[in-house]
Amino acid sequence: MPLNELEATFYSVHPHRIKIYLLYTAFLFNVYVIRSQRLQDILWEWLRTELFYIAGACQHSGNCCRYLMLYNKGKALNHPELFQKAAQEKPYYSRFIPQMTTSGGIDHFQCNCLSAENKCTDYKNRPRLCQQYPIGNFLKGGDLHGDCGYTVRLRENIPIFHNRTVLALLVQTARLQGWQL
Ligand code: SF4
Ligand code: SF4
Repeated sequence: MPLNELEATFYSVHPHRIKIYLLYTAFLFNVYVIRSQRLQDILWEWLRTELFYIAGACQHSGNCCRYLMLYNKGKALNHPELFQKAAQEKPYYSRFIPQMTTSGGIDHFQCNCLSAENKCTDYKNRPRLCQQYPIGNFLKGGDLHGDCGYTVRLRENIPIFHNRTVLALLVQTARLQGWQL
């Protein structure tokens, strides 16, 4: 469910066309004049959130609690040392049990607050990363869990883009979300 007004916009099919035009203009200005990769990444991040929305509803598969990855400053905690260090700063991480790869890395985490009926047994105190799913995953540039009741979709009536860079980024985002193009 949406957490606040800002996050609620992620569930709306309607685009902010003016915002999209402004961001697209800034994007083109950067592509042809400034040519900064860093600025392009930032502008695409903003544009991406204006172009896509999240549809559907939770089907209580439990996948987002059973197969989750934790991040610290954008880096996956895919090694026990990284996880232990982060867990010292965030004691609530103790609920997440690392699921190891054969080479000793962390493949994903499984939460021990998930009940056999796929319900959260600590719903009131669930961490912010849980509250933010699925928006959080999309904002971080990731995909949603397999068999998730939510899906990422393109908003209706968005402008037609001609710039190749934007088109390539659009396709990349769509493929990441499992769309067959
Ligand atoms: S705290 Fe609750 S919502 Fe968060 S991963 Fe665990 S079971 Fe899922
Ligand atoms: S993966 Fe999606 S459908 Fe499954 S419990 Fe999480 S939000 Fe619900």
